[in-house]
Amino acid sequence: KVRVRFAPSPTGALHIGGVRTALYNYLFAKQQGGDLVFRIEDTDSQRFVPGAEEYIIESFRWLGIKFDEGVSFGGKYGPYRQSERKEIYKTYVDKLLNDGKAYIAFDTPQELEAKRAETENFQYDAHTRSTMRNSLTMTAEEVTSLIDDGTQYVVRFKVEPGEEVHINDLIRGDVMIKSDILDDKVLYKSADGLPTYHLANIVDDHLMEITHVIRGEEWLPSAPLHVLLYKAFGWADTMPRFAHLPLLLKPEGKGKLSKRDGDRLGFPVFPLEWHDPKTGEVSSGYRESGYFPEAVINFLALLGWNPGTEQELFTLPQLVEAFDISRCSKAGAKYDYQKGIWFNHEYILQKSNEEIAQLFAPMVANNGIDEPMERIVQVVSMMKDRVNFVKELWPLCSFFFNAPLEYDEKTVKKRWKENSAQVMGELAEVLESLTDFSIENQEREVFAWVESKGYKLGDVMNAFRLALVGEGKGPGMFDISAFLGKDETLARLRRAIE
Ligand code: GLU
Repeated sequence: KVRVRFAPSPTGALHIGGVRTALYNYLFAKQQGGDLVFRIEDTDSQRFVPGAEEYIIESFRWLGIKFDEGVSFGGKYGPYRQSERKEIYKTYVDKLLNDGKAYIAFDTPQELEAKRAETENFQYDAHTRSTMRNSLTMTAEEVTSLIDDGTQYVVRFKVEPGEEVHINDLIRGDVMIKSDILDDKVLYKSADGLPTYHLANIVDDHLMEITHVIRGEEWLPSAPLHVLLYKAFGWADTMPRFAHLPLLLKPEGKGKLSKRDGDRLGFPVFPLEWHDPKTGEVSSGYRESGYFPEAVINFLALLGWNPGTEQELFTLPQLVEAFDISRCSKAGAKYDYQKGIWFNHEYILQKSNEEIAQLFAPMVANNGIDEPMERIVQVVSMMKDRVNFVKELWPLCSFFFNAPLEYDEKTVKKRWKENSAQVMGELAEVLESLTDFSIENQEREVFAWVESKGYKLGDVMNAFRLALVGEGKGPGMFDISAFLGKDETLARLRRAIE
């Protein structure tokens, strides 16, 4: 059975790239009838940020991405928070030590610093380890006595040179790296009794029976080490398949999208608004900016993957159906945020007028207007194709509810002609005489009157609009007057003439 995982480190707000990684894992899992696991990788206590875990969980709840097991979801492979798995990792560190696949090193940070200063491009590896203070260069007694004295140490992976390490990547194909260039990575630190990311990640993926590791390209350089770790543990046969997703790039195309780009572009790069507990900084989120979660999902799905057809609008179930991991691109994907706005607009159109009206109604009420829902639905039906966000409706629609208090000066200059007051007076009379105030009837009668008088239809309608709306924009004139009703339409016309 396919089992994939999303394994964030709770170091702050979840970046939009992380959301995309989780989404692709979700799509892959659901399409294969598999499970998606949510694991928290919090072994780096230095980088832990309170609230980040809750933030991540809430983000996926809002987006509608459901996990099958993991932190806050439960499951039989737990605990799913790495900080609660200390003892498990320790046994696996000991196993590597006993098998001679890893060794203990006592070099202090100062010693390592000095080494780096004296040797250019210093790397702790097969060539240099013999010159360092570790269990390969010391006697067993020395090592034991140092540990007994409470000396801090780390455990390093013993990378053997001369090996070709192959990563069979679902997106990139065969990637080969020579083990000679790898360093002896730290796997465990006695100081906090915790493993590093690499060890915990491999042990957990193995124990949690993960079949596919789908993650960002930034982890590709670590993949050879991971392959070697699987081999060292004797788990090569059940090693997961890898898929390294393309980076998200700045909209300009050069460089990796960063948190700063969000502020710079005035566009969210986080799913939810984030209040950084350390700096007090607030970063905007998609949710608070008025995006629909479906639009965000749709937008992200197409950043690095394409269906090979012209189709752009996909619901989540449709994405599950259409997604094909081998169609992910190797090249980075530009964060085309304008496209995100376009998607939101499309989802406004997709949703029913009633649904949009439900969201718009509180904004109407906040402006002190008490209107029945069906009137709000009517306004939405006339106006929703003009906005990208529900919150943009109010400034465009307020005239439906409030008569204009003043008239836009420029429009008056251009469109209120010398005879406009007189013509509007006549129009008021025409409209007053109507018993049927429907759009169609108003149009028929008004057009007939305009023709009989030899007026220019454009001039009449422009002045009419100015009187009812206060400016030169808006939907069809008779849609507006029919909505306002006869009394309100006449009142507005007469006020304009005064
Ligand atoms: N904890 C890593 C992260 O924060 C997970 C990397 C992986 O998926 O292996 O991205």
